Amino acid sequence: MATGTNSDVPTQPGSGAATLAPRADGEGPMAATAVGLTKIYGSGATRVVALDSVDVGFEAQRLTAIMGPSGSGKSTLLHCMAGLDAVTDGDVRIGDTRISDLSDKQLTLLRRQRLGFIFQAFNLVPTLTAEENILLPLHLGGSEPDPEWERRVVDSLQLDERLRHRPSELSGGQQQRVAVARALVTRPDIIFADEPTGNLDSKTGGEVLGFLRRAVDDWNQTVVMVTHDPGAASYADLVIFLRDGRLVGRLADPTPELVFERIQALEG
Ligand code: ADP
Ligand code: MG
Repeated sequence: MATGTNSDVPTQPGSGAATLAPRADGEGPMAATAVGLTKIYGSGATRVVALDSVDVGFEAQRLTAIMGPSGSGKSTLLHCMAGLDAVTDGDVRIGDTRISDLSDKQLTLLRRQRLGFIFQAFNLVPTLTAEENILLPLHLGGSEPDPEWERRVVDSLQLDERLRHRPSELSGGQQQRVAVARALVTRPDIIFADEPTGNLDSKTGGEVLGFLRRAVDDWNQTVVMVTHDPGAASYADLVIFLRDGRLVGRLADPTPELVFERIQALEG
């Protein structure tokens, strides 16, 4: 059942998310690609091959879920794609930008200006208000806020009544909605989310997922999300499956039932 996952990744990535020329195989342009991505932690007796020569492309204006058993390399893949973790080998690109070509300073700027992040633990700054947290990437990146865009994001996340609250005064679901707003405020090329609903109950988790879905459908955003929850994965356009640091399958138009079957097969 493991389908060849690599044939759709060009060795020379296309012209990036800005040009929306259709590709011959029916997929749109890739917002990010990796070729031969390998990540090894430690050495000697503690050596762990977390990613073993992974070839993958994340299509622009789509919601892609990354699934796999615990320890299969999901978070490592996300972190390497996002330039949060150095790769051992391989070519990782955001659009046309090869991240290994960047200096630390350029990489920091790329993360601030072109990427958004959502983490399981929300990762808000506790001393800042919700609004200050939302605007933080703009301030750090030296970009001008776009009040119209900020308002649309805040309104659709139903945060307007909460902007002056600090994280400790917000529920988990509200904190994660602030984190989603923070990820969106720069209109990034890609939002990377690692178990974004892992600390939420299913109702609030569903709200966050519904919002990510609409950000893709209505605002042409691109989201790559790690999850171990088949229900969460079913919000995606495409699910890719990892096992032991390798890509072992993909499932388009997932349902919770189909995702569950695949995961069971991988874990069994
Ligand atoms: P997942 O997110 O799928 O649960 P991870 O990407 O976190 O998996 O981990 C993949 C493998 O790499 C695991 O064997 C894990 O123990 C190992 N690993 C992850 N991070 C580190 C690290 N900082 N140091 C050493 N090993 C790590
Ligand atoms: Mg993980």
